[in-house]
Amino acid sequence: MVDFALSEMQEMFQELAMEFARDEIRPHAAQWDEEATYPKEAIMAAHNLGLLNLHIPEEYGGAGLGSMDEVIVNEVFGWADPGFATAAYATSLACAPLITGATHEQKDKYLRGVAENGDLASYAITEPGAGSDVQAIKTRLEKDGDDYILNGSKMFITGAGHADWFFVLGYTDSEAGYKGMAGVIVESGWEGVELGKKEANMGQRCSDTRSVNFTDVRVPAANLVGGSEGGGWFNAMAAFDMSRPNIAAHAVGVAQSAFEHALQYSDERETFNKKLHQHQAIQFMLADMKTKIEAARLLTWKSASMADAGLQNTEAAAHAKVFAADTAMQVTTDAVQIYGGYGYSEEYPVARLMRGAKVIQIYEGSSQVQRMIIGREITRNL
Ligand SMILES: Cc1cc2nc3c(=O)[nH]c(=O)nc-3n(C[C@H](O)[C@H](O)[C@H](O)COP(=O)(O)OP(=O)(O)OC[C@H]3O[C@@H](n4cnc5c(N)ncnc54)[C@H](O)[C@@H]3O)c2cc1C
Repeated sequence: MVDFALSEMQEMFQELAMEFARDEIRPHAAQWDEEATYPKEAIMAAHNLGLLNLHIPEEYGGAGLGSMDEVIVNEVFGWADPGFATAAYATSLACAPLITGATHEQKDKYLRGVAENGDLASYAITEPGAGSDVQAIKTRLEKDGDDYILNGSKMFITGAGHADWFFVLGYTDSEAGYKGMAGVIVESGWEGVELGKKEANMGQRCSDTRSVNFTDVRVPAANLVGGSEGGGWFNAMAAFDMSRPNIAAHAVGVAQSAFEHALQYSDERETFNKKLHQHQAIQFMLADMKTKIEAARLLTWKSASMADAGLQNTEAAAHAKVFAADTAMQVTTDAVQIYGGYGYSEEYPVARLMRGAKVIQIYEGSSQVQRMIIGREITRNL
Protein backbone atom coordinates (compact mmCIF):
# COMPACT_ATOMS: atom_id res chain seq x y z
CA MET A 1 0.00 0.00 0.00
CA VAL A 2 1.15 3.53 -0.73
CA ASP A 3 0.18 6.04 1.92
CA PHE A 4 0.13 9.72 0.99
CA ALA A 5 -0.94 10.86 4.46
CA LEU A 6 1.44 12.81 6.66
CA SER A 7 2.15 11.59 10.18
CA GLU A 8 0.85 13.57 13.14
CA MET A 9 4.32 14.92 13.77
CA GLN A 10 4.73 15.97 10.13
CA GLU A 11 1.39 17.78 10.25
CA MET A 12 2.52 19.53 13.40
CA PHE A 13 5.76 20.64 11.71
CA GLN A 14 3.82 21.80 8.68
CA GLU A 15 1.50 23.90 10.85
CA LEU A 16 4.38 25.36 12.84
CA ALA A 17 6.25 26.23 9.64
CA MET A 18 3.08 27.72 8.12
CA GLU A 19 2.43 29.90 11.15
CA PHE A 20 6.03 31.11 11.06
CA ALA A 21 5.83 31.68 7.30
CA ARG A 22 2.64 33.75 7.60
CA ASP A 23 3.88 35.87 10.50
CA GLU A 24 7.62 36.20 9.98
CA ILE A 25 8.41 35.68 6.29
CA ARG A 26 5.58 36.68 3.96
CA PRO A 27 4.99 40.16 5.41
CA HIS A 28 8.67 41.05 4.80
CA ALA A 29 9.45 39.16 1.60
CA ALA A 30 8.82 41.98 -0.89
CA GLN A 31 10.90 44.44 1.11
CA TRP A 32 13.77 41.98 1.63
CA ASP A 33 13.80 41.40 -2.11
CA GLU A 34 13.63 45.07 -3.04
CA GLU A 35 16.37 46.07 -0.64
CA ALA A 36 18.37 42.82 -1.06
CA THR A 37 18.37 42.42 2.72
CA TYR A 38 19.68 39.11 4.06
CA PRO A 39 16.95 37.79 6.44
CA LYS A 40 19.33 36.88 9.25
CA GLU A 41 16.89 37.55 12.10
CA ALA A 42 14.19 35.42 10.49
CA ILE A 43 16.70 32.62 9.83
CA MET A 44 17.71 32.68 13.50
CA ALA A 45 14.05 32.72 14.57
CA ALA A 46 13.39 29.66 12.37
CA HIS A 47 16.43 27.98 13.93
CA ASN A 48 15.16 28.75 17.43
CA LEU A 49 11.79 27.22 16.57
CA GLY A 50 13.57 24.04 15.45
CA LEU A 51 12.60 24.39 11.78
CA LEU A 52 16.08 24.30 10.21
CA ASN A 53 18.68 21.62 9.58
CA LEU A 54 16.32 18.88 10.70
CA HIS A 55 18.58 16.13 9.37
CA ILE A 56 21.46 16.68 11.81
CA PRO A 57 21.64 13.50 13.94
CA GLU A 58 20.53 13.70 17.59
CA GLU A 59 24.00 12.56 18.63
CA TYR A 60 25.28 15.94 17.44
CA GLY A 61 22.54 18.05 18.96
CA GLY A 62 20.16 17.91 15.98
CA ALA A 63 16.59 16.73 15.60
CA GLY A 64 17.63 13.60 13.70
CA LEU A 65 14.58 13.82 11.45
CA GLY A 66 14.15 12.44 7.95
CA SER A 67 13.94 13.76 4.42
CA MET A 68 10.12 13.71 4.35
CA ASP A 69 10.02 15.89 7.47
CA GLU A 70 12.43 18.31 5.83
CA VAL A 71 10.64 18.58 2.50
CA ILE A 72 7.38 19.41 4.23
CA VAL A 73 8.96 22.38 5.97
CA ASN A 74 10.88 23.42 2.85
CA GLU A 75 7.73 23.49 0.73
CA VAL A 76 6.24 25.94 3.22
CA PHE A 77 9.38 28.11 3.08
CA GLY A 78 9.26 28.11 -0.73
CA TRP A 79 5.60 29.11 -0.50
CA ALA A 80 6.49 31.94 1.88
CA ASP A 81 9.37 33.34 -0.17
CA PRO A 82 11.84 31.64 -2.52
CA GLY A 83 14.68 33.94 -1.39
CA PHE A 84 14.19 33.11 2.27
CA ALA A 85 13.95 29.39 1.42
CA THR A 86 17.31 29.44 -0.36
CA ALA A 87 19.02 31.59 2.26
CA ALA A 88 17.78 29.40 5.10
CA TYR A 89 18.64 26.13 3.33
CA ALA A 90 22.29 26.97 2.46
CA THR A 91 23.56 25.65 5.78
CA SER A 92 21.74 22.33 5.35
CA LEU A 93 23.46 21.85 2.00
CA ALA A 94 26.87 22.50 3.56
CA CYS A 95 26.08 20.04 6.37
CA ALA A 96 25.05 17.25 3.99
CA PRO A 97 28.58 16.11 2.99
CA LEU A 98 29.55 16.14 6.67
CA ILE A 99 26.57 13.97 7.56
CA THR A 100 27.52 11.43 4.90
CA GLY A 101 31.27 11.53 5.30
CA ALA A 102 32.73 13.47 8.22
CA THR A 103 34.57 11.97 11.17
CA HIS A 104 32.96 11.92 14.63
CA GLU A 105 35.19 14.83 15.75
CA GLN A 106 34.26 16.93 12.71
CA LYS A 107 30.55 16.26 13.22
CA ASP A 108 30.82 16.96 16.90
CA LYS A 109 32.37 20.35 16.22
CA TYR A 110 30.70 21.64 13.08
CA LEU A 111 27.28 19.93 13.00
CA ARG A 112 26.85 20.56 16.70
CA GLY A 113 27.71 24.23 16.14
CA VAL A 114 24.92 24.47 13.58
CA ALA A 115 22.37 22.54 15.62
CA GLU A 116 23.05 24.12 18.99
CA ASN A 117 24.36 27.62 18.24
CA GLY A 118 22.74 28.35 14.90
CA ASP A 119 26.09 28.56 13.09
CA LEU A 120 25.74 29.19 9.36
CA ALA A 121 27.66 27.45 6.60
CA SER A 122 28.05 27.43 2.83
CA TYR A 123 28.70 24.77 0.22
CA ALA A 124 31.50 25.95 -2.04
CA ILE A 125 31.97 23.95 -5.22
CA THR A 126 31.27 26.21 -8.20
CA GLU A 127 34.11 28.27 -9.67
CA PRO A 128 34.26 31.03 -12.29
CA GLY A 129 35.18 28.41 -14.92
CA ALA A 130 33.34 25.35 -13.60
CA GLY A 131 29.68 24.91 -12.64
CA SER A 132 27.91 21.95 -14.25
CA ASP A 133 31.27 20.37 -15.04
CA VAL A 134 32.45 19.94 -11.45
CA GLN A 135 35.56 18.03 -12.48
CA ALA A 136 36.82 21.19 -14.23
CA ILE A 137 37.41 22.94 -10.90
CA LYS A 138 40.89 24.37 -10.38
CA THR A 139 41.02 24.66 -6.58
CA ARG A 140 44.07 22.93 -5.14
CA LEU A 141 44.88 21.40 -1.75
CA GLU A 142 48.59 20.81 -1.36
CA LYS A 143 49.97 18.81 1.54
CA ASP A 144 52.33 20.75 3.78
CA GLY A 145 53.36 18.81 6.88
CA ASP A 146 50.16 18.06 8.80
CA ASP A 147 48.22 20.74 6.92
CA TYR A 148 46.88 21.40 3.46
CA ILE A 149 47.42 24.70 1.67
CA LEU A 150 44.22 25.73 -0.08
CA ASN A 151 44.23 27.95 -3.17
CA GLY A 152 41.26 28.66 -5.41
CA SER A 153 38.29 30.86 -6.23
CA LYS A 154 34.70 29.86 -5.69
CA MET A 155 31.75 31.59 -7.37
CA PHE A 156 28.02 32.08 -6.65
CA ILE A 157 28.27 30.74 -3.10
CA THR A 158 24.95 31.04 -1.25
CA GLY A 159 25.22 32.51 2.22
CA ALA A 160 28.98 33.10 1.91
CA GLY A 161 28.84 36.55 3.47
CA HIS A 162 27.34 35.14 6.67
CA ALA A 163 28.95 31.70 6.82
CA ASP A 164 30.91 30.57 9.87
CA TRP A 165 32.47 27.81 7.78
CA PHE A 166 32.58 26.45 4.24
CA PHE A 167 32.58 22.96 2.77
CA VAL A 168 35.14 23.40 -0.02
CA LEU A 169 35.91 20.94 -2.80
CA GLY A 170 39.42 20.93 -4.32
CA TYR A 171 41.97 18.63 -5.89
CA THR A 172 44.71 16.97 -3.89
CA ASP A 173 45.61 15.08 -7.07
CA SER A 174 44.28 16.57 -10.30
CA GLU A 175 45.73 13.71 -12.36
CA ALA A 176 43.36 11.28 -10.65
CA GLY A 177 40.16 12.98 -11.87
CA TYR A 178 37.23 12.89 -9.49
CA LYS A 179 39.07 10.35 -7.33
CA GLY A 180 41.67 13.04 -6.61
CA MET A 181 39.16 15.42 -5.03
CA ALA A 182 38.95 16.16 -1.33
CA GLY A 183 36.43 18.10 0.73
CA VAL A 184 37.68 20.34 3.51
CA ILE A 185 35.99 22.40 6.19
CA VAL A 186 37.33 25.96 6.15
CA GLU A 187 36.40 28.47 8.82
CA SER A 188 35.51 31.90 7.48
CA GLY A 189 37.80 33.69 9.94
CA TRP A 190 40.96 31.94 8.80
CA GLU A 191 43.74 33.93 7.16
CA GLY A 192 43.51 33.93 3.37
CA VAL A 193 39.71 33.69 3.16
CA GLU A 194 38.37 36.69 1.26
CA LEU A 195 34.77 37.41 0.29
CA GLY A 196 33.71 39.01 -3.00
CA LYS A 197 30.84 41.47 -3.28
CA LYS A 198 27.22 40.34 -3.07
CA GLU A 199 25.84 39.52 -6.53
CA ALA A 200 22.96 41.63 -7.82
CA ASN A 201 20.74 38.71 -8.82
CA MET A 202 17.58 38.67 -10.94
CA GLY A 203 15.51 37.13 -8.15
CA GLN A 204 15.74 35.75 -4.62
CA ARG A 205 17.59 38.98 -3.96
CA CYS A 206 17.56 38.64 -0.18
CA SER A 207 19.74 35.55 -0.43
CA ASP A 208 23.45 36.31 -0.21
CA THR A 209 25.36 35.02 -3.25
CA ARG A 210 29.02 35.90 -3.70
CA SER A 211 32.49 34.71 -4.66
CA VAL A 212 35.02 33.51 -2.09
CA ASN A 213 38.77 33.48 -2.69
CA PHE A 214 41.09 31.18 -0.80
CA THR A 215 44.72 32.27 -0.91
CA ASP A 216 47.29 30.07 0.83
CA VAL A 217 44.76 29.12 3.48
CA ARG A 218 46.29 26.68 5.94
CA VAL A 219 43.77 23.88 6.56
CA PRO A 220 44.63 21.36 9.29
CA ALA A 221 44.46 17.72 8.14
CA ALA A 222 41.86 17.28 10.89
CA ASN A 223 39.52 19.30 8.65
CA LEU A 224 39.80 16.95 5.69
CA VAL A 225 36.22 15.63 5.55
CA GLY A 226 36.26 11.95 6.46
CA GLY A 227 39.96 12.13 7.26
CA SER A 228 41.15 10.80 3.92
CA GLU A 229 41.97 12.25 0.51
CA GLY A 230 39.87 11.08 -2.43
CA GLY A 231 36.42 11.07 -0.83
CA GLY A 232 35.52 14.64 -1.74
CA TRP A 233 33.60 13.89 -4.93
CA PHE A 234 31.54 11.15 -3.33
CA ASN A 235 30.53 13.33 -0.39
CA ALA A 236 29.84 16.40 -2.53
CA MET A 237 27.59 14.38 -4.86
CA ALA A 238 25.90 12.41 -2.05
CA ALA A 239 24.93 15.79 -0.61
CA PHE A 240 22.73 16.37 -3.66
CA ASP A 241 20.73 13.19 -3.08
CA MET A 242 19.88 14.70 0.30
CA SER A 243 19.36 18.27 -0.86
CA ARG A 244 17.56 17.94 -4.20
CA PRO A 245 14.26 16.76 -2.70
CA ASN A 246 14.36 19.93 -0.59
CA ILE A 247 15.12 22.20 -3.54
CA ALA A 248 12.27 20.46 -5.38
CA ALA A 249 10.10 21.20 -2.33
CA HIS A 250 11.03 24.90 -2.53
CA ALA A 251 9.95 24.84 -6.19
CA VAL A 252 6.63 23.19 -5.31
CA GLY A 253 6.04 25.86 -2.65
CA VAL A 254 6.83 28.71 -5.06
CA ALA A 255 4.46 27.22 -7.64
CA GLN A 256 1.74 26.67 -5.04
CA SER A 257 2.01 30.27 -3.91
CA ALA A 258 1.80 31.61 -7.48
CA PHE A 259 -1.18 29.36 -8.16
CA GLU A 260 -3.03 30.57 -5.04
CA HIS A 261 -2.43 34.21 -5.98
CA ALA A 262 -3.59 33.60 -9.56
CA LEU A 263 -6.70 31.69 -8.48
CA GLN A 264 -7.65 34.46 -6.08
CA TYR A 265 -7.04 37.16 -8.67
CA SER A 266 -9.06 35.24 -11.27
CA ASP A 267 -12.01 35.44 -8.89
CA GLU A 268 -11.65 39.20 -8.41
CA ARG A 269 -10.94 40.43 -11.92
CA GLU A 270 -13.70 40.56 -14.51
CA THR A 271 -13.41 40.89 -18.27
CA PHE A 272 -16.26 40.73 -20.80
CA ASN A 273 -18.71 40.59 -17.84
CA LYS A 274 -17.22 37.40 -16.41
CA LYS A 275 -14.75 36.56 -13.71
CA LEU A 276 -11.42 35.56 -15.26
CA HIS A 277 -11.75 31.92 -14.16
CA GLN A 278 -15.12 31.72 -15.91
CA HIS A 279 -13.28 31.99 -19.23
CA GLN A 280 -12.38 28.44 -20.13
CA ALA A 281 -8.94 29.41 -21.42
CA ILE A 282 -8.05 30.76 -17.98
CA GLN A 283 -9.72 27.89 -16.11
CA PHE A 284 -7.73 25.36 -18.14
CA MET A 285 -4.56 27.29 -17.43
CA LEU A 286 -5.35 27.08 -13.70
CA ALA A 287 -6.17 23.38 -14.03
CA ASP A 288 -2.82 22.66 -15.72
CA MET A 289 -0.99 24.66 -13.05
CA LYS A 290 -2.63 22.60 -10.30
CA THR A 291 -1.97 19.27 -12.06
CA LYS A 292 1.72 20.07 -12.41
CA ILE A 293 1.99 21.15 -8.78
CA GLU A 294 0.33 17.92 -7.58
CA ALA A 295 2.67 15.83 -9.75
CA ALA A 296 5.75 17.80 -8.64
CA ARG A 297 4.81 17.34 -4.99
CA LEU A 298 4.39 13.59 -5.40
CA LEU A 299 7.77 13.24 -7.14
CA THR A 300 9.31 15.27 -4.34
CA TRP A 301 7.73 13.14 -1.64
CA LYS A 302 8.77 9.96 -3.44
CA SER A 303 12.41 11.04 -3.65
CA ALA A 304 12.39 12.00 0.04
CA SER A 305 10.66 8.84 1.23
CA MET A 306 13.13 6.71 -0.76
CA ALA A 307 15.96 8.44 1.10
CA ASP A 308 14.20 7.74 4.41
CA ALA A 309 13.83 4.08 3.43
CA GLY A 310 17.58 3.90 2.82
CA LEU A 311 17.13 3.46 -0.94
CA GLN A 312 19.35 5.06 -3.58
CA ASN A 313 17.29 8.10 -4.67
CA THR A 314 19.63 9.71 -7.23
CA GLU A 315 17.27 9.23 -10.19
CA ALA A 316 14.14 9.97 -8.14
CA ALA A 317 15.73 13.17 -6.80
CA ALA A 318 16.63 14.23 -10.34
CA HIS A 319 13.05 13.60 -11.55
CA ALA A 320 11.74 15.66 -8.63
CA LYS A 321 14.24 18.51 -9.07
CA VAL A 322 13.81 18.91 -12.83
CA PHE A 323 10.03 18.55 -12.84
CA ALA A 324 9.45 20.78 -9.84
CA ALA A 325 11.86 23.47 -11.07
CA ASP A 326 10.31 23.50 -14.54
CA THR A 327 6.85 23.52 -12.93
CA ALA A 328 7.74 26.50 -10.75
CA MET A 329 8.94 28.43 -13.82
CA GLN A 330 5.88 27.52 -15.88
CA VAL A 331 3.34 28.13 -13.11
CA THR A 332 4.82 31.47 -12.03
CA THR A 333 4.92 32.58 -15.68
CA ASP A 334 1.27 31.58 -16.10
CA ALA A 335 0.38 33.39 -12.87
CA VAL A 336 1.92 36.59 -14.29
CA GLN A 337 -0.12 36.00 -17.46
CA ILE A 338 -3.35 35.66 -15.48
CA TYR A 339 -2.63 38.93 -13.69
CA GLY A 340 -2.13 40.62 -17.07
CA GLY A 341 -0.40 44.01 -16.84
CA TYR A 342 -0.58 43.95 -13.05
CA GLY A 343 1.43 40.73 -13.09
CA TYR A 344 4.31 42.57 -14.70
CA SER A 345 4.38 45.10 -11.86
CA GLU A 346 6.39 44.60 -8.69
CA GLU A 347 3.34 45.93 -6.82
CA TYR A 348 1.98 42.38 -7.02
CA PRO A 349 3.74 39.27 -5.67
CA VAL A 350 3.73 37.10 -8.79
CA ALA A 351 6.54 39.02 -10.54
CA ARG A 352 8.86 38.35 -7.57
CA LEU A 353 7.86 34.68 -7.59
CA MET A 354 8.59 34.38 -11.31
CA ARG A 355 12.02 36.00 -10.89
CA GLY A 356 12.65 33.78 -7.87
CA ALA A 357 11.68 30.58 -9.67
CA LYS A 358 14.21 30.96 -12.48
CA VAL A 359 17.32 30.08 -10.48
CA ILE A 360 15.81 26.79 -9.32
CA GLN A 361 16.32 25.59 -12.91
CA ILE A 362 19.97 26.65 -12.68
CA TYR A 363 21.46 25.85 -9.26
CA GLU A 364 21.92 22.52 -7.47
CA GLY A 365 22.45 20.97 -10.90
CA SER A 366 20.64 22.73 -13.73
CA SER A 367 17.60 21.24 -15.45
CA GLN A 368 19.93 20.02 -18.23
CA VAL A 369 22.17 18.33 -15.66
CA GLN A 370 19.16 16.60 -14.06
CA ARG A 371 18.22 15.23 -17.49
CA MET A 372 21.82 14.06 -17.92
CA ILE A 373 21.57 12.21 -14.58
CA ILE A 374 18.25 10.61 -15.54
CA GLY A 375 19.67 9.70 -18.96
CA ARG A 376 22.70 8.10 -17.34
CA GLU A 377 20.55 6.12 -14.91
CA ILE A 378 18.06 4.83 -17.49
CA THR A 379 20.75 3.75 -19.96
CA ARG A 380 23.15 2.33 -17.37
CA ASN A 381 22.29 -1.31 -18.02
CA LEU A 382 21.68 -1.25 -21.77
C1 LIG B 1 21.78 32.26 -7.00
C2 LIG B 1 22.79 31.16 -7.13
C3 LIG B 1 23.19 30.47 -6.00
C4 LIG B 1 24.15 29.46 -6.09
N1 LIG B 1 24.62 28.84 -4.97
C5 LIG B 1 25.67 27.97 -5.04
C6 LIG B 1 26.26 27.44 -3.85
O1 LIG B 1 25.83 27.70 -2.73
N2 LIG B 1 27.35 26.64 -4.00
C7 LIG B 1 27.87 26.32 -5.21
O2 LIG B 1 28.87 25.59 -5.24
N3 LIG B 1 27.33 26.81 -6.36
C8 LIG B 1 26.24 27.62 -6.29
N4 LIG B 1 25.68 28.15 -7.44
C9 LIG B 1 26.23 27.78 -8.73
C10 LIG B 1 25.32 26.88 -9.55
O3 LIG B 1 25.28 25.60 -8.99
C11 LIG B 1 25.83 26.90 -11.00
O4 LIG B 1 25.53 28.17 -11.53
C12 LIG B 1 25.20 25.81 -11.83
O5 LIG B 1 25.70 24.56 -11.43
C13 LIG B 1 25.47 26.00 -13.33
O6 LIG B 1 26.83 26.20 -13.55
P1 LIG B 1 27.33 27.45 -14.44
O7 LIG B 1 26.65 28.65 -13.94
O8 LIG B 1 28.81 27.42 -14.44
O9 LIG B 1 26.78 27.15 -15.87
P2 LIG B 1 27.48 26.20 -16.96
O10 LIG B 1 27.91 24.94 -16.34
O11 LIG B 1 28.49 26.99 -17.69
O12 LIG B 1 26.25 25.91 -17.91
C14 LIG B 1 25.67 26.92 -18.75
C15 LIG B 1 24.41 26.36 -19.36
O13 LIG B 1 24.72 25.22 -20.17
C16 LIG B 1 24.01 24.08 -19.71
N5 LIG B 1 24.91 22.93 -19.83
C17 LIG B 1 26.14 22.78 -19.30
N6 LIG B 1 26.66 21.60 -19.65
C18 LIG B 1 25.75 20.98 -20.42
C19 LIG B 1 25.67 19.71 -21.09
N7 LIG B 1 26.66 18.82 -21.00
N8 LIG B 1 24.58 19.43 -21.82
C20 LIG B 1 23.55 20.29 -21.89
N9 LIG B 1 23.54 21.51 -21.29
C21 LIG B 1 24.63 21.84 -20.55
C22 LIG B 1 23.65 24.37 -18.26
O14 LIG B 1 22.50 23.65 -17.85
C23 LIG B 1 23.39 25.86 -18.33
O15 LIG B 1 22.09 26.07 -18.80
C24 LIG B 1 24.68 29.12 -7.36
C25 LIG B 1 24.25 29.80 -8.51
C26 LIG B 1 23.32 30.80 -8.40
C27 LIG B 1 22.90 31.55 -9.64
